[in-house]
Amino acid sequence: MTYSPPKQHLVIGGGGVVGLALALRVRQLASALVDVTVCDPGLGVARKSGRVSTIAAGQRRFLQTLGVWEGLGDAVTPVSAMHISDSRLEDVLRPVYLKLSGEIAPGEAFAHVVSEAPLIVSLQEACAAAGVTLRATSIADDRLQAQSRTITLADGMTLRADLLVGADGRPSPIRARARIGVSGHDYGQSGLVATLQLERGHDGIAVQHFLPGGPFALLPMAGNRASIVWSQPHAAAQRLMALEPDALAAEIEACFGHQLGAITLLDRPQIFPLAVGIARSFIAERLALAGDAAHGVHPLAGQGLNLGLADALALADAVGAAAGLGLPLGNRQTLEDYQRARRAPAVAMAAAMEGFNALFSNDIMPVRRLRDLGLGLVDRAPGLKSIIIRRAANITAPADAPHRPA
Ligand SMILES: Cc1cc2nc3c(=O)[nH]c(=O)nc-3n(C[C@H](O)[C@H](O)[C@H](O)COP(=O)(O)OP(=O)(O)OC[C@H]3O[C@@H](n4cnc5c(N)ncnc54)[C@H](O)[C@@H]3O)c2cc1C
Repeated sequence: MTYSPPKQHLVIGGGGVVGLALALRVRQLASALVDVTVCDPGLGVARKSGRVSTIAAGQRRFLQTLGVWEGLGDAVTPVSAMHISDSRLEDVLRPVYLKLSGEIAPGEAFAHVVSEAPLIVSLQEACAAAGVTLRATSIADDRLQAQSRTITLADGMTLRADLLVGADGRPSPIRARARIGVSGHDYGQSGLVATLQLERGHDGIAVQHFLPGGPFALLPMAGNRASIVWSQPHAAAQRLMALEPDALAAEIEACFGHQLGAITLLDRPQIFPLAVGIARSFIAERLALAGDAAHGVHPLAGQGLNLGLADALALADAVGAAAGLGLPLGNRQTLEDYQRARRAPAVAMAAAMEGFNALFSNDIMPVRRLRDLGLGLVDRAPGLKSIIIRRAANITAPADAPHRPA
């Protein structure tokens, strides 16, 4: 008779993209050894959010490994190029200082724009099919026991977890209960997000236009639509939110000139306060943090979800390996390995976004000249551009190692 060890239990608080991707990957790696439960009051509720994210090629390969990519249809749009400019709105000629384009492998774009709501539906369905228990309720409390955490759900049920993961977003009640502090600050900016119908084709080009008040990003979507993230000081963003749709469309058009033709708003804009914050630790006893619960970065380079998916992959690998060796899922060494792998990249990304935002969100002429010169030099250095594109794609491994985003 063969001995089969008792199954361990992983509980994930938060069923956003990061929590669901983690759950699914752990089941793919260790379904015979680990039961997984995801708790989120939003599970099963149709998300109305028009939010989209740019997913780098490395993270897209991870979603493909999870089996959720192919079915997304027109919820994903390949990015053919990224144009970066900081010309002023009143400039007649608006030069683009840096153009990044190219494929990572034949037919594989370096990034895709993905709509969050259909991606979450796809992940939920795949999780259910893989035997993940989905509970449409929030985690109300968790207590550390000798070898586990006891979790109380808002519906009154209690669960025992060998490891609890907080993938519960920026406010992260799980992080707060563990008394893990966050280093960071408010940017004094809000990101206004809206979906647009464009008269002229965008050709899959993403645009990052650095304006003195903050960056303005346009992300191409299928059907000649686009999503914008317009970062502005809070008061300016509130002023834009209060405008009638036609007046707001006119202000957006003013940012682009008329190259995209007439612009129509397709949904009610939303605003998100922008802040940078890195959890002082990504781990505690029998606890790990992933995604926005662990780190929040400025959305100007579209890296928040990319970081979160890389966390999910690293944590799933660590947990799968521990289960395979018969070790407790929440053993100290496994958690420390995870933290070592993921905290430094998050800190580096937060610092880089901080620097970009400070460098570009000002209108002092010598600073403008220097940065435009710098961007122009990079634009004329093909070797350097190709390195930047591979970095933007989060590809550090060869194409035959599909799920290794940085
Ligand atoms: C304007 C803007 C634009 C962005 N653009 C990009 C981009 O282009 N590319 C990119 O990579 N990133 C982008 N990001 C960042 C990206 O949206 C986030 O990093 C990502 O959504 C984080 O996913 P998550 O699963 O960690 O958290 P969330 O999506 O916040 O999910 C957390 C989940 O936890 C649940 N929850 C909360 N409390 C509890 C509880 N007590 N119990 C159980 N569940 C709970 C919530 O209901 C929620 O479903 C952008 C962000 C903003 C604000």
